[in-house]
Amino acid sequence: SIPVITIDGPTASGKGTIAQHVAEALGWHVLDSGALYRLAALACLRAQVDPADQQQVAKQASNLDVRFDSAGIWMQGQNVSNDIRQEAVGNLASRIAAQPPLREALLARQRVFRQAPGLVADGRDMGTIVFPEAPLKIFLDADAASRAQRRCKQLKEKGFSAKIDELIADMEARDARDRSRSHAPLRAASDAHTIDSSHMGVEETVKAVLDLWSK
Ligand code: C5P
Repeated sequence: SIPVITIDGPTASGKGTIAQHVAEALGWHVLDSGALYRLAALACLRAQVDPADQQQVAKQASNLDVRFDSAGIWMQGQNVSNDIRQEAVGNLASRIAAQPPLREALLARQRVFRQAPGLVADGRDMGTIVFPEAPLKIFLDADAASRAQRRCKQLKEKGFSAKIDELIADMEARDARDRSRSHAPLRAASDAHTIDSSHMGVEETVKAVLDLWSK
C-alpha cells in the first residue's frame, strides 16, 4: 500500500516545515491537516456560523470548496493562504477542533491525500487516528520558548504583527485544548519516534526523519 510518514506534535513545533522538506526529499505528497481545520474555521467566520453549533460547523467543513496547489490554498476561488494563518483563525480552529462531528467530516478529506508514491502528513492525530497503519510515525516536540519564536517569525513573514508573550499564552492554551480534548487528543502514537527539535535546525531534523525512514 502507499506509504505514509506521519508527523504529529504541538503548535509551532516545526511540523509543517519538516513535513515539506521530507516530502521534497522523497518526491512525495504532503498534507498540512491543520490547514483543513483553519479552512473550516475561516469558512465559519465568513458564514457567521455559531462556533458552538457543532452540526453547522461540520457542515461548513463538508461543503468546503478548497484546492491545494503550488500557488497556495484556495477557498471558493480565492487564495486564502495568508488569511488562514491569522491568529483569530488559528484560535477558532483550535476551539472547533475539539468537536467530533467536525473531525469526522474532515477524515475522508485528509485520507484522499494518500497518493502514490507516498504522503507526509502533519498534524495532531495523523499517527493515532487518520493514518494509524503508517509505517513511520514521528512525534515532533520542542520547548515553548523555541516554538513561540518560530511562530513569531512565521507570522512576521506573513506581514502580521505578533507579541511574543501573547503568542506563548495562546500557544499554551491551544496545546492544553489539543491535549485534553476527549476526541482525538494530541499525543504520540505508541509506535511513534519522538524528536525534540528545540535545539535542532531544519536540516538536522529532516535528516533525522529520513534516517529513520531508510532504516
Ligand atoms: O497546525 P495548525 O496550528 O495549523 O492547526 C490549527 C488547529 O487545528 C490546531 O490548533 C489544532 O487544534 C487543530 N488540529 C487538529 N488536528 C490536526 C491538525 C490540526 O486538531 N490533525
